Amino acid sequence: MRDVVVIGGGLSGLSACYELEKHDLRYTVIEVKGRFGGAIRTSAAAGFVMDAGAFCFRPFAQEPWLEELGLKHEIVGFAEGACIFRGGSESLIRALAGKLHGGRLMRMAVSSLGRSRGRFTICLENGMVYDAGAIIVAAPARYAARILRNLMPEAADSLADFRYDSILRLSLGYRKRDVPGSIVSDPEGSFPFVFASDMPGRAPDRDHLLLQVGMRGGADLPREALVRRVRQAFGLPAQPLVAQVDHWPEADPLAWHEQPVLKNMTAIHQALPAGIGLIGSDYLPGPAPDCGIARLGARMRAGRAAARDAVAYLGARRSR
Ligand SMILES: Cc1cc2nc3c(=O)[nH]c(=O)nc-3n(C[C@H](O)[C@H](O)[C@H](O)COP(=O)(O)OP(=O)(O)OC[C@H]3O[C@@H](n4cnc5c(N)ncnc54)[C@H](O)[C@@H]3O)c2cc1C
Repeated sequence: MRDVVVIGGGLSGLSACYELEKHDLRYTVIEVKGRFGGAIRTSAAAGFVMDAGAFCFRPFAQEPWLEELGLKHEIVGFAEGACIFRGGSESLIRALAGKLHGGRLMRMAVSSLGRSRGRFTICLENGMVYDAGAIIVAAPARYAARILRNLMPEAADSLADFRYDSILRLSLGYRKRDVPGSIVSDPEGSFPFVFASDMPGRAPDRDHLLLQVGMRGGADLPREALVRRVRQAFGLPAQPLVAQVDHWPEADPLAWHEQPVLKNMTAIHQALPAGIGLIGSDYLPGPAPDCGIARLGARMRAGRAAARDAVAYLGARRSR
């Protein structure tokens, strides 16, 4: 009999699983994609290490799990107050996933939740049905809206209204001599961020540079056209040695003041049936910190807290 089902195998969901593991609970994580990590994905080519999503974060050296995950020495300074994982952010996902012994259902999407005889039923899109004593939903709001509709239709309506700032991330590997002196971002315009790095672990050597460019608009364009647009905008005459383009439709919530749903978040959390946790960057009960790099540590803490809540809930039911 399954104690807990965790829906979503991003950093939040895997952090919850790792904590459940420590409490010896039987859990299964269900992930719609064929890989864990969600918004964290790293690839490597020609000596460049490219983070498609999250890549730098506030130092969270105090994080108690880094040591036991073998990652304490994998964190290196990147800029003032910002760090990266030496081998890319996916190191964190691989380390967490490597410690999990619970069930894993990959390439399976949860479509809805129900209740039967004091337990939760979990319906998958392929028609399979599972059950569990507690649930942790660690999927973005637009999916959670559907998953939670049966149990809390009004909250689901609010979550379905969640609006995102979609973004393209281009990772371009260059010879340094092919890149003009300064490349700067345009926070309000088409290129809200640009980072250039020749750090060991990101570029093959000091003669090369990895450019990470965030770009708004153009998700419908082919990859070559997007690379051309970046080259024109920043005056890069040469073709990059490597180019990777990733589209993130759910990169960031729109600003707090633009989203009525965020103002309802405390009410949504309060309306959750006992035994269900809802975690991830979409469910903050107040304005998000204005700096986008504070989130990895926060996701781990929230995963841990949701797992402990599930442990307490199951313990209380058993002792009744
Ligand atoms: C482009 C980009 C850049 C970022 N940069 C940074 C950064 O530099 N620093 C930083 O700290 N943070 C950054 N972030 C934020 C950080 O990556 C996220 O806060 C964090 O990774 C979110 O983890 P999560 O597990 O909550 O959600 P996600 O990573 O979105 O994981 C949710 C998971 O749920 C799965 N799922 C969805 N629906 C279902 C379903 N119905 N059934 C089963 N599974 C489902 C998804 O496939 C996914 O794997 C960035 C995010 C993006 C998108």
